[in-house]
Amino acid sequence: MATRQKKKKTVKKTRRKGAKSKGLFLPFIFLSAILFITVLGVSFIYFSKKAPHKTISHKRVLIYEDFSQIPLEGIVFNINSLIEQEFTKLGIKSNQWQEKSVYKKWQQKSYPFIEIQVKKPKNLTWSRLKTSLVSLAQKKEGLSFQFSSPSANKWEVYIAWHGLITHHLNFSPFVLPKIEKKPLVAIIIDDLGYDLSVVQQLLDLNIPFSYSILPYLPYSQKTAEILKNHHAEIMLHLPLEANGHPRLNQQPGMLLLSMPPMVLKKQLEQDLGSVPYIKGVNNHMGSKFTQNKTYMEIVLKEIKKRGLFFVDSLTTNGSVAYQIARRMGIPSVKRDIFIDATLDVAGMKQRIEALKRWAKSKGEVVAICHPHLTTLMVIREELLPLTAEFRFVTVSELITHNQLAARMSKPATSPF
Ligand SMILES: [Zn+2]
Repeated sequence: MATRQKKKKTVKKTRRKGAKSKGLFLPFIFLSAILFITVLGVSFIYFSKKAPHKTISHKRVLIYEDFSQIPLEGIVFNINSLIEQEFTKLGIKSNQWQEKSVYKKWQQKSYPFIEIQVKKPKNLTWSRLKTSLVSLAQKKEGLSFQFSSPSANKWEVYIAWHGLITHHLNFSPFVLPKIEKKPLVAIIIDDLGYDLSVVQQLLDLNIPFSYSILPYLPYSQKTAEILKNHHAEIMLHLPLEANGHPRLNQQPGMLLLSMPPMVLKKQLEQDLGSVPYIKGVNNHMGSKFTQNKTYMEIVLKEIKKRGLFFVDSLTTNGSVAYQIARRMGIPSVKRDIFIDATLDVAGMKQRIEALKRWAKSKGEVVAICHPHLTTLMVIREELLPLTAEFRFVTVSELITHNQLAARMSKPATSPF
């Protein structure tokens, strides 16, 4: 019995020992596993953050412009199209209203403030209009309205999004001034030089685009040659420093504010000489550079010397480029709309709707887009059918038209 008990004791002891070492072993495994998972997770986050940059630089640069103002612009366009839908429901036809947009600033971001003038339909009542517009609050979160009726004939509505006034609607019985001639639409295709196949597809659309080529890209020269053979308008897409530089984009030939004036001038001369047959220049990026008066003057002086026109791509509301160009007597215009600021089809369609309305109101519109396949598809579907209604022109045609209009001492077609 005694031996048995002893034996039992020994067994118990060994078991306890085993349990003790297991007790240490398990937390050790557990801790190592946690450590392993953490290391794996951290490195995954690190590499997944790095990976897109790598793929982009191998394939092609996908960041086209610095659309810092775009989210807000998209919201305004979205509200705009909701208003349009409501107008249709109320029986207000498209030729009974016009809109004008002015870029305003809000928290250092620019956004289009839209002024809409409506010829009041006879059967439309004030209360019906109010009910109809207020219903928009259910479709778009954050909308509020301010209604005023200064007279029986005149109604006013302010629409705000989270307190920011985006629209002013003016209803009156007066007939709107009718633009008799076809509105002019100039479209610039930016960021060319990466790919040749897209150039042919663009040419096949038979729209007189202005083609803007970036310098020093694999196909910059060849693109210019092809376009020249098709008598298309060629521009230099001059890379200028953006606010996010160098994180955002480092384009070959980019002009930087850190360059001493002489270095800048030399780089500019090289850039201008690198793409043949150019008739004009517009800026690629440039949200920082175009705000600098001194450096913009150096650039524009050279553009003027070479007899080129200038388009301010307006990548920032703070750009002084257009203003300086005009003052220096350089034929110039500025961008109204980026058709593909966002790459979703619905967003692009909304912008094309805005383009149509602005062209009708202002008589002309300057749009910029990029050689994305989605953009091409949307252009083919949405813009091609408009040839009867609008006149597509190159930028130089638009400028000549404006110069002629000015010479005939008519007021300028565009107040912008
Ligand atoms: Zn660009």
